[in-house]
Amino acid sequence: MQGLCSVILPSFNEEAMIDRASYAVGSVLYDARIPYELIFVDDGSTDSTWTRIQDAATENPAIRGVKFSRNFGKEAAILAGLGQASGDCCVVIDCDMQHPPEKIVEMYRLWQQGYEVIEGQKTSRGTESGLHAFAAHAFYTLLSAAAKTDMENASDFKLLDRKAVDVLIRMPERGAFFRALSSWVGFKTAAVQFDVREREAGESKWSTKSLIRYALSNISSFTNAPLQFVTILGALLLGVDLIWAIVSLIRRIAGALVGVGTGIGLLLMLIGGSCMLALGVIGFYIGKIYDEIRRRPRYIIAELCGRTDGED
Ligand code: UDP
Ligand code: MG
Repeated sequence: MQGLCSVILPSFNEEAMIDRASYAVGSVLYDARIPYELIFVDDGSTDSTWTRIQDAATENPAIRGVKFSRNFGKEAAILAGLGQASGDCCVVIDCDMQHPPEKIVEMYRLWQQGYEVIEGQKTSRGTESGLHAFAAHAFYTLLSAAAKTDMENASDFKLLDRKAVDVLIRMPERGAFFRALSSWVGFKTAAVQFDVREREAGESKWSTKSLIRYALSNISSFTNAPLQFVTILGALLLGVDLIWAIVSLIRRIAGALVGVGTGIGLLLMLIGGSCMLALGVIGFYIGKIYDEIRRRPRYIIAELCGRTDGED
């Protein structure tokens, strides 16, 4: 089977990478005789990314572009690309070419053998600074436990069969986390190993703040464990409280002098603190519920370019 392969490239302020990426991916697929289309999703870039995409689309009929009305994040860009894709299979790859395009061929061959979800797995994390690597490790350990799949080496570099793509784009979930959802859907899965390369141009779009927000939001969309943790903590505190009360009472009966003020003070602080913590966690999840029930669109498309469906 020689089906069409749609390659989705989320791009945010990647003006220096559009031409290089379309050349790199295009030539690899052309040489391997794989029919393809490239879909660049401009995630509200503030540089000339969109002009570059339009130019590329005029030069090469296999290139299409989607422009968001503002920055909606990589997850939204991936979903929009999948929504626009007409391929029998879709590949998601970073526009900065940190994911080696040659691996698409390997993924495509596995897809031809009948695999439906082909995950790109990192063998090394490339050159990331100490703190960043540590934070990423902590995040993935927590997330792996929450999502019950190994996420440490997972990446957004994947090939998905049309079946999996259709499931993903129909998911009503707002806070989608593509990396974990694509393994959550199941299907016949294979993995391809790759080395994370150095970014060719531009800079990473992640600040520490955005990483922390990303980690919290994705962990909470896969587990309610923090809520249970708070319940357990509350129960433990009550238990300690009760024992303490009984002990104090016995000592009082035995005639000892109990430092009532200190005891009460400490206890109040402890209870107050844990209540606040509990409320914080509950508030966090309520915030997520609120986000989901608003049913806002995940992204807004401002413009399209290149060949539109139906045209040849
Ligand atoms: N990206 C995006 N929207 C964003 C941030 C990033 O579409 O809000 C794209 C970016 O253009 C790149 C990919 O996501 O193609 C990975 O981003 P980056 O290289 O900054 O992340 P890192 O490789 O450092 O994890
Ligand atoms: Mg990168």
